[in-house]
Amino acid sequence: MKYFAGIDIGSTNIKVALCDAEGNLTADHTTPTGSHFHKNALAAFDKMLIDKAISRDDVHYITSTGYGRKLFKEADESVSEITANAAGASKVGEAYGKVRTIINIGGQDLKVIVLDEEGHVINFAMNDKCAAGTGRFLDVTARNLELDVDELGDCHVNMEGVPVTINSTCTVFAESEIISLLADGNGRDEIIAGIHYSIARRVARLAKRHGVEDLVFFDGGPALNKGLVLALEDELMRDIAVPKIPQITTAYGAALLAREAFICEEGSLYE
Ligand code: ADP
Repeated sequence: MKYFAGIDIGSTNIKVALCDAEGNLTADHTTPTGSHFHKNALAAFDKMLIDKAISRDDVHYITSTGYGRKLFKEADESVSEITANAAGASKVGEAYGKVRTIINIGGQDLKVIVLDEEGHVINFAMNDKCAAGTGRFLDVTARNLELDVDELGDCHVNMEGVPVTINSTCTVFAESEIISLLADGNGRDEIIAGIHYSIARRVARLAKRHGVEDLVFFDGGPALNKGLVLALEDELMRDIAVPKIPQITTAYGAALLAREAFICEEGSLYE
């Protein structure tokens, strides 16, 4: 059996994915990036193979992507996150329709990618200079409210009041604003929803500047947060598609590109 691997070394998490000869997602694994990118990526890759009892010899091509992609020396090629994300989102998005706009929120960046009818990238915008509008903003919010980041979505959905307006656009100032809002008696859930709307407004502004076409596909770890999804749907005034494992779309895309590169080099999947 032939397999193809995608390794996405993000600023916060390393995601690894494997596809089979037909391009089906076979395995995936996510682990914190930490400070030893290469060692941690290799460990994540090995764990994914061991969990599925797949031999390293059956992996015929590896494509790395993401912020730390150049550090994964075992890769046969490396591609940009934009290319890998577009490939993964187009494939996963087939279950929902034809993806034309991808919104990817990572641990420290925010991307909007616009695709044409054939799934080719025609435009993209990236903001990796500021933590507002990224997963980092959610991590800081959770820490300030003594919650885990995966609890924020439920807090938003179960809110009894209305979202509090957050005025600070900077993560550092928002931290002190959260504390002032709590001191003024505002509810925790209403503050969380306010943070989600503040991120969603920022994302929607960037997306609208580059043209939002349906189907809008939302991926990256923060897409696991259903409160943020609701806020983004409100701000974009449309439904958005969120895959089941949104953080691995880019790694899966890299695995699909590994498969394509193998076919291109070898001429066929079957010798
Ligand atoms: P990167 O590719 O930049 O490393 P990810 O796409 O892995 O980033 O996203 C990381 C962010 O996703 C974290 O900073 C966190 O805010 C958010 N996140 C991760 N897991 C969850 C979860 N279970 N629920 C909600 N948000 C999450």
